[in-house]
Amino acid sequence: MDNGIRNNRIREWTSNEGASGYLTIDLGAIRRNYEKLSAAVSPAKAAAVVKADSYGLGATKIAPVLLSAGCRHFFVAHFCEAIEISPHLSDEARIFVLNGLQPGNETPAAEADIIPVLNSMEQLRRWSATARAIHRRLPAVLQFDTGMSRLGFPPEERSFLVEELRSNQDLDILFIMSHLASADDEDSQQNGDQLSEMRRIAEEFPAFGVCFANSGGVFLSNEYHGVLARPGIALYGGTPNNGGSNPMEPVVSLDVAVIQTRTVPAGARVGYGATFVTKTETRLATIAAGYADGLPRSLSDSGAVYYNGVRLPIVGRVSMDSITIDVSALPAGTLSLGSLVEVIGPNQTLEMLAADAGTISYEILTSLGHRYRRQYR
Ligand SMILES: *Cc1c(COP(=O)(O)O)cnc(C)c1O
Repeated sequence: MDNGIRNNRIREWTSNEGASGYLTIDLGAIRRNYEKLSAAVSPAKAAAVVKADSYGLGATKIAPVLLSAGCRHFFVAHFCEAIEISPHLSDEARIFVLNGLQPGNETPAAEADIIPVLNSMEQLRRWSATARAIHRRLPAVLQFDTGMSRLGFPPEERSFLVEELRSNQDLDILFIMSHLASADDEDSQQNGDQLSEMRRIAEEFPAFGVCFANSGGVFLSNEYHGVLARPGIALYGGTPNNGGSNPMEPVVSLDVAVIQTRTVPAGARVGYGATFVTKTETRLATIAAGYADGLPRSLSDSGAVYYNGVRLPIVGRVSMDSITIDVSALPAGTLSLGSLVEVIGPNQTLEMLAADAGTISYEILTSLGHRYRRQYR
């Protein structure tokens, strides 16, 4: 058989069955989450943060759904991400690069209508020079550091910047922005501190609207909404605030296949380093995902998966491609080769898994990897 035809046949089979893990992404839930966030910030607008491939879930699939839900502002972190999603959006959509203007990207960004978030005087000068070189005013966003010490113009450069903008004919500043460091904790003093600082900045730059709130900020209060909010994790079902219940609809479910089952006697060592030793006769199953699939090694001997609502603890270390679970809580023979267990779903939320792993939902999502069969609903 011709190699190309053969490979296509194989691809067809493996895309329908035989996958060892299924990552299901509910595009309808993403749309409803966007609508909920939009309503929460109205009359301000809601942008969408689609950096890191939409938090690992597939930006080229998700951005068009958000566009059709009315989103017109898309934030990525890197210029290359902007180039990747650009063909999947319409001309009405604007794409912003949070990490700023990297030397070398000026002309391509101008040609592709990608808008840099200018984080420093040097970036502002480079973008202005590009505008002069192509004889066209260029759009830009200015980011200010309001107390996170990460990105943006520092306080001491603001008066200088005010002067600069008075004479600058090269740039069309669309809005000004800053980022909240503790918005997931509504009791944090830092939120109010950053809001006060943002208000001072807004007074110094009265010509421009403010873009401030990430997912957490959307739910703090409408004082944080400005003209445009910038939620990310909440779109993808992650909780915007650590305190209360999660107002967002779950987006992701992850089911992984059993690849072997066995019964071992008391005293059996399980996994690398034999960190787990059975106390009694134990029924085990090994499932087809490991730390290479974004299930952190920190879940070793601590996390769990579910089957029909029954918790099945992870025993021993998480391997690169597999995890062993104790299935003794299920009637013998319940699980066999190919059975699917729930890693993320109705019994185990993204947040529960992240907590067991000692991390946050963001890191779980962006680490999920590409060995699962992805299904978009
Ligand atoms: C990632 C990011 C966001 C989105 O934050 P979430 O907490 O996911 O809502 C917004 N703004 C900036 C600058 C970011 O880096």
